[in-house]
Amino acid sequence: MQEKVVIVGAGSAGCVLANRLSASSERSVVLVEAGPDYAPDELPHDLLDGGRNSFTQHDWGYRHRPNAGQMKFPLPRGRVVGGSSAVNTCIALRGQPEDYDAWADRGLEEWDWERCLEAFKRLETDLDYGDDPERGRWHGDSGPLPIRRHTEEELSPWQTAFVEGCRRLGYEDCPDSNEPGTRGVGPHAMNKLDGRRISAADAWLTPPVRARDNLSILPETLVHRVLFDKRKATGIEVEHNGEVRTIEADRVILSAGAINSPRILMRSGVGPSRQLEHIGVEQVAANEQIGARLLDHPGAAIFLLPKFGSGTSRNHDLIQSVCRFSSSLSDLDNDVFMQPGAAVPIPRFSLPAVSIMIALNKPHGSGELKFESASPTADPVIESHLLEHPKDREAAMDALERALEVTQTPECQELARIIWPPVWELRDRDQLEQRVLKVCDSGYHPCGTVPMGGDDDPRAACDGHGRVHGVEKLHVVDASLIPEIPAANIHLTVLMIGERMSRLLAG
Ligand SMILES: Cc1cc2nc3c(=O)[nH]c(=O)nc-3n(C[C@H](O)[C@H](O)[C@H](O)COP(=O)(O)OP(=O)(O)OC[C@H]3O[C@@H](n4cnc5c(N)ncnc54)[C@H](O)[C@@H]3O)c2cc1C
Repeated sequence: MQEKVVIVGAGSAGCVLANRLSASSERSVVLVEAGPDYAPDELPHDLLDGGRNSFTQHDWGYRHRPNAGQMKFPLPRGRVVGGSSAVNTCIALRGQPEDYDAWADRGLEEWDWERCLEAFKRLETDLDYGDDPERGRWHGDSGPLPIRRHTEEELSPWQTAFVEGCRRLGYEDCPDSNEPGTRGVGPHAMNKLDGRRISAADAWLTPPVRARDNLSILPETLVHRVLFDKRKATGIEVEHNGEVRTIEADRVILSAGAINSPRILMRSGVGPSRQLEHIGVEQVAANEQIGARLLDHPGAAIFLLPKFGSGTSRNHDLIQSVCRFSSSLSDLDNDVFMQPGAAVPIPRFSLPAVSIMIALNKPHGSGELKFESASPTADPVIESHLLEHPKDREAAMDALERALEVTQTPECQELARIIWPPVWELRDRDQLEQRVLKVCDSGYHPCGTVPMGGDDDPRAACDGHGRVHGVEKLHVVDASLIPEIPAANIHLTVLMIGERMSRLLAG
C-alpha cells in the first residue's frame, strides 16, 4: 500500500523533498503551499530577476526587531512555490567542513562533513568546476541546481573596484569559495543563468516531476495546523478560498521555513508549555526548544554615493562577489564576510547608492520567537537580538573598520564617496558601537528554531531525522533544523538538508 506523505511548504527544502520522495511509487506525496504556483513561462518579473531580491510581491510581510534598541524591520520570506529560493539573491555557498562536523559533535553523526559533502555534490551541476580534473572532486556535474560564478568581465564597475581594492589590501584571490578551506576575495558561486534566478521549484519541480501521478501540488492553500490522534499525526487542516478542510496523511513533514514551521507546531499544540497555555492551545506534547533559539547572520553596511561618470547603474546586479576572512577576534575560518552592493536604493536619494555590506557568520548571540495568538493570521513576535552579545558587537565593528579600509582604496575612491554612516563615526569606536547597534539587520537567514540534535541532547526539538520529539509521524525538514549556523549564506545548506533527509526518510 502507498504511504501518503503530506509536505507543508513548497520552499527550498519542500521542493527537494517533493521530488525525491515522489520518485518512488511506494509513496503518494501532497505538497501544500500558501502562495501561488506559476507555469515556467508565466513567472512574473520579480521571480525571474536573479539580480536583486523580491521583497514584497511574494512575501509573508513579517517584521522582526533586530535588537532591543531598534524599531521593527521587514524580515522577507518567500510565499510562492519555490519559497524563499524564488525571491533570494541566488548566492550558492556552502559552509566550512567544521560547521557540519560541529553538528556531528552534537550527537548527529549522520550530518558530518563527509556525508554532507556527498549531498552538496549531488544537488548541483557546477558549470565552472563540475568536470574540472582537480576542483571537480569537490563538485557535482549532474545535479538539479546549476551553479556558476560571474567572470571578471561580467562584474559591474563597483564589484570590480571592490575586488581590486581587496587585492590591493592583501586579501588572497579565491576563484571558488565552495572549495573547503578557501578564503579571500572572488566571485560568488550563484544559482542564476543569464540573470534568471533558478529557484528550487525550477530545479526540482521540473515538468516531468510535476507530471508524476503520485505527486499533487496544492497552491494558495494555507495550512492551519497538524491534526493528531493522541500523539500521532494523522493529517493537516487547510484553508483554500475561504473553505477549511482536512487532508489525511500517514506522515506529515513541515517544510514551512524557520518562522512558519514552529508557528504551525505551536498552533497544533506542540511547543513550550507556558506559551501554549498563553495562546490557549490544548497541549499535545510539550517541546520547550521550539522557537527558543533563533539563529541568523547579523549584517550592517557602509553606503557610498557613486560619482558622475563612475559607470554605476540601477540595472546592475546587487551582489556578484565576496571577501571572506577571519576577524581578528576569532580563530574560526571565514567568520566574517564583506560584500559589495551595487544599485542599492536609499531613501531621499534619486540615484541608487553602492555599499559594502558586512555579515557575521558565527555570531555568539541568538534570538527567539514568541507567540501571542493561535490565529492562523496572527504573526509571531520575532526578537532577533542581533549584536546584543558584546563579542558580536566587537566583531561587527572590526568588520566595518575593514570595510572602511576597502572604501579608501584608490579603486573604490575613484568611483564613490561614503555618505553614511559618516566617516568620523566609523573612525571613533564609541560612536561606532552605538551606530552599529542601530543599523544592524538580519542577513535574511533565520534558522535553528526547531533544532535537531542527538537523542540525549536537551537543546534539541527533533532527532537527526527531523522527527519532532514528543509526537509520532511528524517531521520538520527545513532551515528550522539547523543546530548551529554555518559560516555561509544558508540556502545551499537547506537544499543539502532536503537531499540528505529525503534519503533518511525514504530509508
Ligand atoms: C530576500 C532574501 C534573500 C536571500 N538571499 C539568499 C542568498 O542569496 N543565498 C542564500 O544562501 N540564502 C539566501 N536567503 C535565505 C534562503 O533563501 C532561505 O534560508 C531558504 O530558502 C529557506 O528555505 P526553507 O525551505 O527553510 O524555507 P522557505 O524557502 O522559506 O519555504 C517555506 C515555504 O513554506 C510555505 N509556507 C509557510 N507557511 C505555510 C503555511 N502555513 N501553509 C502553507 N505553506 C506555508 C512558504 O510560503 C514557503 O513557500 C535569502 C532569503 C531571502 C528572503
